[in-house]
Amino acid sequence: MTDLAMLLTVQELDNTAGALRHRLATLPERRALADAQATVSRLDAELTERDGPRRQLEREQRRLEDEAGSVRDKADAEDRRLYSGSVKALRELQAIQEEITSLRKRAAQLDERILELMMEIEPLADALSGLRAQREEAEGVAVRATVALAEAEAATLAELQRVEAERSASAAAVPPEALARYEQLRPDLNPSTVVRLVGSRCEGCPLQMPSVEADRIKHLPAGLADCDECGRLVLH
Ligand SMILES: [Zn+2]
Repeated sequence: MTDLAMLLTVQELDNTAGALRHRLATLPERRALADAQATVSRLDAELTERDGPRRQLEREQRRLEDEAGSVRDKADAEDRRLYSGSVKALRELQAIQEEITSLRKRAAQLDERILELMMEIEPLADALSGLRAQREEAEGVAVRATVALAEAEAATLAELQRVEAERSASAAAVPPEALARYEQLRPDLNPSTVVRLVGSRCEGCPLQMPSVEADRIKHLPAGLADCDECGRLVLH
């Protein structure tokens, strides 16, 4: 392989490196990770939103339990007063008895309300634990997606570094002037900046090269010519 023909290898390696950079920027693993993270965020938002009403009901439950407790304490105290012997007047004893009955009734009403609250809380708590399980699973998916992305990135980067090293070595074998012409034209002509002359046809041109042009190139000393038709570098 002549030094000039090595330019085709350089071009091939540049094309491969370009494809690898594109792959790196568009790895499907990145999308998978973004999807998994979005699921975790959505579940977090739903958990926060649905945990609010449950907490509120539980606060109400505790408040009612405290109230029922103090109502019972008061009834017990009245009970002790009733049997302490310190109160003698019948009317007063009756009043205490009525107060006790009223307190016990109030406590029973509170118990009933507490039971209702507990029944309201139960399905909410079940739904929340279902959501928490989903969130945990989504978190696991996100962790695995993070690992998969890191692996895919590392593998692609390693491949890119290998191609870039090979490109440097190949480019070193190309005459600097030819390499400079190639690098100058590549941004416009991209994957087929350098082409071969096949018979009297420039590989970069869709049509047969005009015979005058083919003759012109054929009669140039072997090397790199500019195709007047497509502007590519023609190796001949
Ligand atoms: Zn051409």
